Amino acid sequence: MIFAAEKRCEMNVKKTERTPKAPKGNPYMGFLWGILIVLLLNGLIFPKIAEQQIVETDYGTFIEKVDSGQVKDVAIESNRIYFTTEENDKTVVYQTGEANDPRLVERLLNADSPNENHKIAFNQIVPRENSPLLNFILMWILPGLIFYIIWRQASKSIQARMGAGGNFLSFGNSGAKIYAESDIKTTFADVAGQDEAKETLKEIVDFLHNPGKYAEIGATLPKGALLVGPPGTGKTLIARAVAGEAKVPFFALSGSEFVQMFVGMGAAKVRDLFKQANEKAPCIIFIDEIDAIGKRRDTAMGNDEREQTLNQLLTEMDGFDGRKGVVILAATNRPESLDKALLRPGRFDRRVQMELPDLEGRKAILAVHLKKVKHEAIDMDIVARATAGSSGAELANIVNEAALRAVRMGRQSVTTPDLEESVETVLAGAQKKNAVLSATEKKLVAYHEIGHALVAAMQTHSAPVHKITIIPRTSGALGYTMQVDSGEHFLLSKDDLFNRIVTLTGGRSAEEVMFGTVTTGASNDIEQATKLARAMVTRYGMSDKYDMMGLETVNNAYLGGDTSLACSADTAADIDKEVLLVIKQAHQKAKDIISTHQGLMHRAASFLIEKETITGDEFMKIVGGTLS
Ligand code: ADP
Ligand code: MG
Ligand code: ZN
Repeated sequence: MIFAAEKRCEMNVKKTERTPKAPKGNPYMGFLWGILIVLLLNGLIFPKIAEQQIVETDYGTFIEKVDSGQVKDVAIESNRIYFTTEENDKTVVYQTGEANDPRLVERLLNADSPNENHKIAFNQIVPRENSPLLNFILMWILPGLIFYIIWRQASKSIQARMGAGGNFLSFGNSGAKIYAESDIKTTFADVAGQDEAKETLKEIVDFLHNPGKYAEIGATLPKGALLVGPPGTGKTLIARAVAGEAKVPFFALSGSEFVQMFVGMGAAKVRDLFKQANEKAPCIIFIDEIDAIGKRRDTAMGNDEREQTLNQLLTEMDGFDGRKGVVILAATNRPESLDKALLRPGRFDRRVQMELPDLEGRKAILAVHLKKVKHEAIDMDIVARATAGSSGAELANIVNEAALRAVRMGRQSVTTPDLEESVETVLAGAQKKNAVLSATEKKLVAYHEIGHALVAAMQTHSAPVHKITIIPRTSGALGYTMQVDSGEHFLLSKDDLFNRIVTLTGGRSAEEVMFGTVTTGASNDIEQATKLARAMVTRYGMSDKYDMMGLETVNNAYLGGDTSLACSADTAADIDKEVLLVIKQAHQKAKDIISTHQGLMHRAASFLIEKETITGDEFMKIVGGTLS
């Protein structure tokens, strides 16, 4: 999302501007002004005695001066006495400490003075109290003000640290502005294949274009559509394409963006989102990776924040008027983990399945991405067939890798070999140019690979060999045999699967038969063969013993598809025996094939050692005896 960083900055700036009452931006200035005013008031209200030079003297001197009739007037404060005398026609102000003298008043009354009436003018100054208003301001408002300012600054800085989405101590709304993209260039033309998905979504586009047509009949469109499929199949892409086609604002958020640090924040964000969407209707809300908030609410260890967010989402989806033209799209690759309430009619009732592309789909995706690079005539068929099981994202990556390779080779455009090489790079890692294998190791690798290829070639129901190479790859593969199916298979028979296992054991069998040894090189083969054999027994009902009994369930069909056993421990142990039986049979079959074709093995292997990479055609010619 290109807009994220910049827009968020902008938002923070706006917030600062909103800070109230501060003359020209700085929030501390108001506070300083306040203090200054208080000081000025103090200066006006408190008595101003200190206008003249005051001479400090002791109480004895004061009494002496009173008794000798020099004192003109006296001002008595709570703990201080000020008095003036006439000395050389000049008034001098003295001050002295108050000595708690009970006879002071009597003394002053009786004493003589240079005043006209020969009386000392004296009075007690009541210590002046601050006005109640000022006291109130000083005691209550000012500290409050100071705390408020500190709190504002603190919460603001915490907010900034938590990112723009975060919010602290201000409940009610999430404060986060959700930006709608308005001119999206992505269209359905950018999404290759996925015709069924496009068909479903086109209806939504049409609805957003002219809702009246639907309202006339009284039809309401589904409020939400859930895009489901393995990663990289174009779910995010097609959601953008819907917005691009419908030419409406597009609110895109990821499910994880709702999950906040504090309980209630995510729900507030959902509320905000729907409020803003309602204002912009018709528009599309897209929640990517919705499983982050939409997980089933059944775990003992509940997550309050997530559940509240989900509840809010459910409420909002119920609450808004479908005819207004707000369509909610969501994407996930774990649909089975979603809360059932999300999937019921009236919410995400329409499910759009995005599958891994088939052969035609792969060709189409390659074509879409090849449009973006300069290329010569490309044999799409061969590339598409070599990439069975690849997702759209992987195909996009393959095209880009091919373009990079073309640049590396100093060419102006992408060729078919570029694509073929990049297929291998993506699937098996880059070529390791400087890995030097010893002659014996190289020989062993060659026989291992030819073993796979020969076993494959000697069986029916087995995909033809496309390429054999013993150039090491960065993934750790020292060599590999690539088989490419000529067509597309939707069903695999028991024989197909068994033959696959036989082919996988072919490499190790070659080591055993030709060298009388075994190496670590077969580890990957073993893993794959075991997986296949296990699936045959536990999931595909291909063992006599367990017939059609399901012994394993698949958990995340779209994410690797890990399985968990659904049977007793006894059965589990017995399954292992069944699996072993299948593998042993396959291994024996492979060894038999290689033993009977040792001459072929030698010929093909020496050819491979010399060339390092041979094509399927060359290999088949050796097998057919026309090449040696
Ligand atoms: P998902 O959200 O399903 O994980 P994306 O939509 O993010 O996958 O796809 C990632 C990239 O893969 C896209 O940007 C696009 O380049 C490419 N891609 C995936 N599927 C397709 C498709 N059907 N047609 C064209 N490109 C695709
Ligand atoms: Mg995605
Ligand atoms: Zn192998």
